[in-house]
Amino acid sequence: MNSNYIIALDQGTTSSRAIVFDHGGNIVDTAQQEFAQHYPQSGWVEHDPQDIWKSQLDVLQTCLSKYKPEHIAAIGITNQRETTLVWERATGEAVHRAIVWQDRRTAAYCDQLKQEGWTEKIQAKTGLILDAYFSATKCKYILDQIENGYERAQNGELCFGTVDSWIIFNLTEGKVHTTDCSNASRTMLFNIHDLTWDNELLELFGIPHQMLPSISESSEIVGYTSVKLSQKEIPIAGIAGDQQAALFGQMCTEPGMMKNTYGTGCFMIANTGSEVISSKNQLLSTVAWKIGGQVSYGLEGSIFVAGAAIQWLRDGLAFFDDAKESEALASSVEDTDGVYFVPALTGLAAPHWNQYARGAILGISRGTTKAHITRAALEGIAFQVNDVIESIAEDLGDRPTELRVDGGATHNNLLMQIQSDLASIKVVRPKVLETTALGAAYLAGLAVGYWSDIESLKKQWQLDQTFTINKDHEAITKRKEYWNEAVKRSMNWSNTGD
Ligand code: ADP
Repeated sequence: MNSNYIIALDQGTTSSRAIVFDHGGNIVDTAQQEFAQHYPQSGWVEHDPQDIWKSQLDVLQTCLSKYKPEHIAAIGITNQRETTLVWERATGEAVHRAIVWQDRRTAAYCDQLKQEGWTEKIQAKTGLILDAYFSATKCKYILDQIENGYERAQNGELCFGTVDSWIIFNLTEGKVHTTDCSNASRTMLFNIHDLTWDNELLELFGIPHQMLPSISESSEIVGYTSVKLSQKEIPIAGIAGDQQAALFGQMCTEPGMMKNTYGTGCFMIANTGSEVISSKNQLLSTVAWKIGGQVSYGLEGSIFVAGAAIQWLRDGLAFFDDAKESEALASSVEDTDGVYFVPALTGLAAPHWNQYARGAILGISRGTTKAHITRAALEGIAFQVNDVIESIAEDLGDRPTELRVDGGATHNNLLMQIQSDLASIKVVRPKVLETTALGAAYLAGLAVGYWSDIESLKKQWQLDQTFTINKDHEAITKRKEYWNEAVKRSMNWSNTGD
């Protein structure tokens, strides 16, 4: 083999990274660059498209200067999902700032569509909940903002894309305008059953199909980097949205396998195989990936505040200086002494979906210390994750037995043990916690034959530690009752008195 490495480009919400992987799936090097966030109004979040591109190019070129383009077998791309860009096909110039997934400016329009009765139809076609989170209403907004937007798009002058499309268009100097099924499934314009852009939805949102990218598989050569940028053409051979890439990087490739990322929030996906499972519990159905003509789907539930609750104890209440210390502090007491902490600091997401919920700490007594509250915060994270697991289990008709974990807060062994106890599930932490980038590297490497097949990847996936259930069932059931009651009491708090 002449080529020694795969580079994963991980275009995230706050930074762009390039990560070099070797044949064993080990991280050899990383380059990272942060870029500016723009908040023009309350609830609005934008990125400068040039910041996204330049930071991504910079970190790629940093890695290429060390590892030489001729030693790179392929590039895989993973990205912040849903974030929406529109640019001129001829010049490659963006016509508007990127509207980021967190941006809520189209919420009122979504409410209007709900009133018009679109919720069920949109869920049936796209697997999504009608919400401003997804790309469709953001793209419509951009077209409405610019002069003759619709006409220009119809004439083929404009391109729409999520961040993967934008990066690929730039890496190929405008030769390739494509996206993969996993990213397309987050636009609210994509029919996840027949894997095509949906004409009825395009019409609803006033988005001409001439501006849409082609749909690629998640693991295939979609184009080559321009020689001008990388000295040598390198195949771009893997694309997946960040959470789907993490699911692949965790090698959750069989139906029923499930991963959770514990970062600021939590992002959970269960693989549902070739079947779209329609959620009865407000989870999202999404395309996990398409490889070799085979599509795999996922069921997804997100939690807004997880590690961020620990951050708040650190910064807001000054309980400790470093999030890491939460483990020792919480371990200094045997239990929470009856304290429950619902970390609904910015409302509750899956499966409760109550934007007016707010954080609540209940059961405080004279004996309560910061150790009890910290322990209750860790339990609050784990209880929330358990609520999503229960919903997934209900939708699947079967309870997964294992949870693969990644993200910053998984370093906390106590949290992992609590998770295992509360959810009665085996928690499995891999050695490589950069599963998002690893997934993108795997997808790219498979497409160019750097790795032969998924089976060989499964063999190299390495376990760090497993946490198994060791608590008595009855006590846990009782505590879940208290938790459910605490959640109820946190709901609709911020509009009390309206
Ligand atoms: P993101 O990618 O969302 O920025 P990371 O995966 O980097 O998040 O994880 C950072 C989050 O995890 C922070 O919210 C932090 O409070 C939390 N965190 C980090 N280490 C620990 C720890 N040892 N125990 C509990 N929480 C932690």
